[in-house]
Amino acid sequence: MKKGRLFLILGPSGTGKGTAIQYLKSRFPEAVFPLSCTTRQPRPTEKDGEVYRFLTKGEFDRKIKAGEFLEWAVVHHDNFYGTLKKPILEAINAGKIVIREVDMQGVQSIRKLLPQDQVVAIFIAAPSWESLRHRILKRSKIPDEELVRRESSFKLEMAFSKECDFVVMSEEGNIEEFCTEVGKIIEENAK
Ligand code: 5GP
Repeated sequence: MKKGRLFLILGPSGTGKGTAIQYLKSRFPEAVFPLSCTTRQPRPTEKDGEVYRFLTKGEFDRKIKAGEFLEWAVVHHDNFYGTLKKPILEAINAGKIVIREVDMQGVQSIRKLLPQDQVVAIFIAAPSWESLRHRILKRSKIPDEELVRRESSFKLEMAFSKECDFVVMSEEGNIEEFCTEVGKIIEENAK
């Protein structure tokens, strides 16, 4: 049977990756959206088992030792995140489309582990830090030190966009077009 493909969605926080994934869930009902594990605290709107399994550091360490992760990384210097090997490999082997958001470390690790033609990295970009900052602050209040951290991550991540297979620009007001574009890329590259 022909193998499926893993589509990795990445990009700076605030660009609308979550919105894109919600859209992709309805556009590709047959695709697999595997859970990842994290040691960060759930946000008020998040439920365990929807996007993440929320684990203690001890539980996360046990999964590392048991070899349950395809990759894992410390993201933003504090919390651990890991993609689960079993659901991803099972779905690829069954010829399915798999879609998961990861950070750039995740893309780098997964590219070393899986054949090149099975992994497609789609980068969601913002036109400038100023425009992204404006969007982030419209959505929620954020302490200054967090904004400084996000700005330096933004620069690093935008530099990494050159290494991705596709770059899609997300701007305020173009959410619909940008989601449609991501969907088109997946449709065209799933075969
Ligand atoms: P958040 O905590 O805001 O959901 O995600 C923080 C960062 O962790 C984002 O850049 C997100 O893409 C990344 N992330 C989420 N799941 C994984 C994963 O399984 N592996 C890696 N390497 N990064 C992840």
